Amino acid sequence: MFRSARLKLTAWYLLSIMMISVLFSLGVYQGAVLEIRRGLRAQALRVIQEQKLIPGIDRDAIPPEFDRFHRVPSLRLSSEFDEQLFAEAKRRVAFQLVVFNLGILALAGTAGYFLAGRTLKPIEEMVDEQKRFVADASHELRTPLTAMRTEVEVTLRDKNLDAASAKEALESSLEEIGKLQLLSDKLLMLDRYQNATNGRSFTAISLADAVEEARQSVLPLAREKNIEIQGEIENISLEADKESLTELLIIFLDNAVKYSNENGKVIVRTITEHNKAVIAVQDFGIGIRASELPHIFNRFYRADASRSKTKVQGYGLGLSIAKSIIDMHNGKVDVDSTPNQGTTFTIILPLKH
Ligand code: ADP
Repeated sequence: MFRSARLKLTAWYLLSIMMISVLFSLGVYQGAVLEIRRGLRAQALRVIQEQKLIPGIDRDAIPPEFDRFHRVPSLRLSSEFDEQLFAEAKRRVAFQLVVFNLGILALAGTAGYFLAGRTLKPIEEMVDEQKRFVADASHELRTPLTAMRTEVEVTLRDKNLDAASAKEALESSLEEIGKLQLLSDKLLMLDRYQNATNGRSFTAISLADAVEEARQSVLPLAREKNIEIQGEIENISLEADKESLTELLIIFLDNAVKYSNENGKVIVRTITEHNKAVIAVQDFGIGIRASELPHIFNRFYRADASRSKTKVQGYGLGLSIAKSIIDMHNGKVDVDSTPNQGTTFTIILPLKH
């Protein structure tokens, strides 16, 4: 699809360039013809004037238009010889212009093809990304749906179904519905933050308050795993979108707790540095392998350890949402991790916009 689009775009580039080149060449041709005519006439005049000085030449035989040099409207040439010279010069100019246009055609064709490729590249990447996203999302949707379907079919086939088994099947389906809901919530959130431009209202907010709000929201899971969330919080005021910033902190804190072993701890630090707010979320959990680090902000990416070893619930969307929120705030994120020792995410946000 992109190959034919590239060829079409090249054809359009070529057409526009060739139209300009041909028009330009026609102008040059007209100008050159005019100049050649004048040149030949001036030459003929010189010859005639020289002849005037030679005794025996009949001056009345000289055509009147020669006396007025090249300002006369009629540019008729003096002799058959001049006509031949003129035709020859015209042919040469035309030939050179044709060669010039062929050169432009070859050059514009190559450059156009290259430019068309460069123009289409980001679009192609976007379409590929979109396709991957649809495939990944469908895959994630299918897993809980298949589980639910199997559960319901097996339950329906059971001729001696009692109330307890039916309840169990319903509970299992409810769990899958919960997963589907989580997925759709995450997808909606991703869409919301990815499409958020500067339209969001940035107001001065307290970072300490946002951290506390996020801490409260992950506290139930932390309690379940007996994980302590410690804070070393500087009282920083920064311009941000309150709701997004809290969501961002929830994502990092939630991951820190999710990927920590039981009875561990998570530390949140906030400081200001060169007019920037620096937020670090450190855990001492399973860590991320160096080879996986470049991918963790990709949509639907989950590192092997979190998929297999720990069976942590998730869709690999949290960090891509976090990245969109950080981009929205013109910030940066850094990650430092050692497998089985822990991970530190450092988020840097400008204090003012
Ligand atoms: P998920 O829903 O899987 O947590 P995320 O986008 O939040 O999705 O994270 C992507 C992947 O990055 C996770 O699956 C996990 O492998 C890895 N990851 C993120 N945060 C941590 C962390 N604090 N410790 C270890 N691995 C992490």
